[in-house]
Amino acid sequence: MALSKLAQQFADEIRLQDWTDAHIRRDRAGHNRMWDTKSHPNDPVLDAEQTQSVKTNVMWVTAQVLGYNDPNFDVYEFAQACGVNTMNNRGGKDGSIAAGLRTSYGRYMRPGTYELDPLTEVVTTDTSDAYHASTSCPMFLSGYQNKPILKFSREEVPDRWKPCQCITSSQS
Ligand SMILES: [Zn+2]
Repeated sequence: MALSKLAQQFADEIRLQDWTDAHIRRDRAGHNRMWDTKSHPNDPVLDAEQTQSVKTNVMWVTAQVLGYNDPNFDVYEFAQACGVNTMNNRGGKDGSIAAGLRTSYGRYMRPGTYELDPLTEVVTTDTSDAYHASTSCPMFLSGYQNKPILKFSREEVPDRWKPCQCITSSQS
């Protein structure tokens, strides 16, 4: 799935920026140390790993907002578009990319908080035994057979469906 227009634009900006001196300069969007006249050869710069850390943190906080607002958001696709490595040493998907987000069972915590939004609507399908907080729940996705999504208000789910962990874990 392609990134949303907004996600692609954020990724383009994050990728464009020269982050190597982000700890000492306020230089503008689009800063590039090679071209910017205020840069000096002896300016302290971050090493490659430190620079990647800054860029990855910027990617994560931006991804938190994008994921909260877009049910189709894919943080791996976004991270790659930002120029952040998403592979682990064995060439597989680096789980730390997804783990860096504030999510619970695929739901994003509200930007600026450590809270999930109150659940008003739940989802399931005819072939499913459980109902879920969202179609992003990993348990929902693992059993999904491309059947139409059924939606119920939180209080009116018929008995034939039982709450998934994604529901029970967020009850407080
Ligand atoms: Zn679930």
